[in-house]
Amino acid sequence: MNAPQALRNMRGPGQLVLQWQDGEHSLSHARLRGACPCSQCRAARLQGNISLVRDDVRVVHIQPQGYGVQLVFSDGHERGIYPWVYLRDLSAR
Ligand SMILES: [Zn+2]
Repeated sequence: MNAPQALRNMRGPGQLVLQWQDGEHSLSHARLRGACPCSQCRAARLQGNISLVRDDVRVVHIQPQGYGVQLVFSDGHERGIYPWVYLRDLSAR
């Protein structure tokens, strides 16, 4: 999975905009937080705790990881590494 051509973080509206080869998609920060792929969040979702995500959570830092990005959220959570293929999949849904 190739990286998007561009990645733009819009903290005001809370949107991460990904420019893929075939078009632009935006994902809300709350959606990304709720879809965090780390083991801790996966376990929480299995227990039905996904509603704990706040709408005003924001991506405050993006750390490139080669095959994707690590997202640091305003609630202090920074364990999630989002592979490009996962972001692409979230965009498509
Ligand atoms: Zn997580």
